[in-house]
Amino acid sequence: MTADISLEDRFTVPGRYWHRLDDGRVQCDVCPRECRLHEGQRGLCFVRGRVDDQVVLTSYGRSSGFCVDPIEKKPLNHFLPGSAVLSFGTAGCNLSCRFCQNWDISKSREIDRLSDSAGPDDIAEAAERLGCRSVAMTYNDPTVFLEYAVDVADACRARGIKAVLVTAGHVNDDARRELYAHVDAANVDLKAFTDDFYRRVAAARLQPVLDTLVHLRHETDVWFEITTLLIPGYNDSDAEIDAECAWIADELGTDVPLHFTAFHPDFKMRDVPPTPPATLTRARGIAQRHGLRFVYTGNVHDAEGGRTSCPGCGEVVVERDWYVIGRYRLTDDGRCAACGTAVPGRYDGPVGRWGARRLPVHLATS
Ligand code: SF4
Repeated sequence: MTADISLEDRFTVPGRYWHRLDDGRVQCDVCPRECRLHEGQRGLCFVRGRVDDQVVLTSYGRSSGFCVDPIEKKPLNHFLPGSAVLSFGTAGCNLSCRFCQNWDISKSREIDRLSDSAGPDDIAEAAERLGCRSVAMTYNDPTVFLEYAVDVADACRARGIKAVLVTAGHVNDDARRELYAHVDAANVDLKAFTDDFYRRVAAARLQPVLDTLVHLRHETDVWFEITTLLIPGYNDSDAEIDAECAWIADELGTDVPLHFTAFHPDFKMRDVPPTPPATLTRARGIAQRHGLRFVYTGNVHDAEGGRTSCPGCGEVVVERDWYVIGRYRLTDDGRCAACGTAVPGRYDGPVGRWGARRLPVHLATS
């Protein structure tokens, strides 16, 4: 029964968040799924499991591939704009989104699919060599490979490379505190604003995600932006978008960038039509009426929805077309070139010129 999980495996390491239950099972405490495991069982995310009476991570140093992308693709519009980011993921996910756009990775149960392997410093060194300002843990949710993610982030920071998480934010308190203490930026998916959606469509809960956003805003220096994928008929009503934007304005403030992105039919939701561009524009208008100052549309060509305007004088300071930056009127430290008002975010030098390129790279060390 335990044959497929073994601490002898070089990619398997002890997990940090779990405890024993009175009934003989052990409970993984990384995320709100709180999987209760018998010896040899794996959790819902598949990459954590129980062996030798403890919870282990089976994907440390294993990757589903590396790629250099524009940072705008994460999406992060206010974090080292125009720069290249080295992106990677592993396998497995702690949500079960019916609309998952990376389901071949996130729901993979074949560890052999993990084609590349690299230790934390190999990744940081590669990012440096490839001219990337940051490393993003993305494709699947880094929450499930927390121990690896933390070590990658530390190795990056030791070389002056920033660490970025792209996550659903569905994580328990202690694991959350550790994970975000090691990173510089995050894009958090706020998939909807009803618990019903989270339960029915993602097999998860809303509140832990809101807790992550509040933690990021009030207890860390992590730069974060929020993405909501609008799915026709599921989470795109005026009332729901209104409630989400009101909450963001009240709890997080109006400077947090919000991205409304377009759904395209995938995985188990091929019967749902793609999001009309007008839906994204409508959502953007609602957010702006709540005072949110940086609201973007994504996965569409939309000049208006790709712009950043100066919160001081109203001048357009950054124009974007999909992931490509056009006109750029910010100083090296992120101030409006016209009036000097600071635009919230992390800026460090001139805008990058990586453009829309996507460069797959192979990092295998053995
Ligand atoms: S991280 Fe994985 S094993 Fe742990 S509780 Fe979440 S889904 Fe279950």
